[in-house]
Amino acid sequence: MARDYYGILGVSREASDDEIKRAYRKLARQFHPDVNPDPEAQEKFKDINAAYEVLSDDRKRQIVDLGGDPLAPGGGGMGGPGGPGGAGPFVGFQDIMDAFFGGAAGGSRGPRPRTRPGADAILRLELDLHETAFGVEAPITVDTAVLCTTCSGAGTAAGTHLATCEACGGRGEVQSVQRTFLGQVVSARPCTVCQGYGTTIPHPCPTCTGDGRVRTRRSLTVKIPAGVEDGMRIRLAQQGEVGPGGGTAGDLYVEIHERPHDVYSRKGDDLHCRVTVPMTAAALGTRLTIKTLDSEETVDVKAGTQPGSTLRLRARGVPHLRGTGRGDLYVHLDVRTPTKLDPDQEKMLRDFAKTRGEEVAELSKQGGFFSRMRDAFNGHA
Ligand SMILES: [Zn+2]
Ligand SMILES: [Zn+2]
Repeated sequence: MARDYYGILGVSREASDDEIKRAYRKLARQFHPDVNPDPEAQEKFKDINAAYEVLSDDRKRQIVDLGGDPLAPGGGGMGGPGGPGGAGPFVGFQDIMDAFFGGAAGGSRGPRPRTRPGADAILRLELDLHETAFGVEAPITVDTAVLCTTCSGAGTAAGTHLATCEACGGRGEVQSVQRTFLGQVVSARPCTVCQGYGTTIPHPCPTCTGDGRVRTRRSLTVKIPAGVEDGMRIRLAQQGEVGPGGGTAGDLYVEIHERPHDVYSRKGDDLHCRVTVPMTAAALGTRLTIKTLDSEETVDVKAGTQPGSTLRLRARGVPHLRGTGRGDLYVHLDVRTPTKLDPDQEKMLRDFAKTRGEEVAELSKQGGFFSRMRDAFNGHA
């Protein structure tokens, strides 16, 4: 008994070629082994393919309509080209979609354009803290493809034109017909003569040899805004690589690299620095002059300041990139203990300790391990 090919595809006997194709497409998507690994789905997929093979072929469909089965062994005769082919390997899912429905993403086929957008470019720019903090107009040297001025991107020598590719007739692709399990599968490959452009350049521009662009070194000035940080990128629209055939240039990204500063370390928009104060100044309190990035500030160190204390100078850090205001400057105080005391100073300090009731054991003046250690550290002769 003949198989119900119309039923397999779920179409009526009057279905048009288009309806059959649509029904097949829908079912093939659903049951292709790449998509649906279920063994039952694989059987179903074979049926769907068989049905499509039969109903998409006028002669075979005719046999079905006359009550025969063109795929049955000896059934309908006419075992012509595109027979079932037994256990032939599956054609890839995408190949089927490409072959029957034109293009992977349903995109248009045909020659690819000679003019294509260019790529982005990136450039590293080293700046000092002062420059990242307050902004700078920095000169940069850019090495990219630019439009060929000889041919303005066309790629052809003066007075000549593109020619239609003879190998593919300008389509940019050549078709080949494969006989497969599914019947005939028509597949298209880019034309190797014109690389898929559909045109050739009989007389290339002597400057760019047909590419429409040339590599060159340019000087630009990039405006760096105040407050940029290490690793940030400034985008210069359409200053990147010009595309093939003189296509729109990509963007140029200038990546900021901030050189380490001798005095300040940066955390976000805050700055940190270290200032040494003598023990006496820390104990008695003092006034310091601090050089900030862009000014001099006088700050008071309170009496009794402990080692590791921090002074905060508001809005003396890096200006915020967005919005107004600035970060703060943190001054970390290193309290320095005196290392070289002459006999008078030592006596004063011992007396001082005594008045405070602080017990200070006296190390032997004459030799002794600890004394020698102390002398070695302090550089005493
Ligand atoms: Zn061609
Ligand atoms: Zn040129």
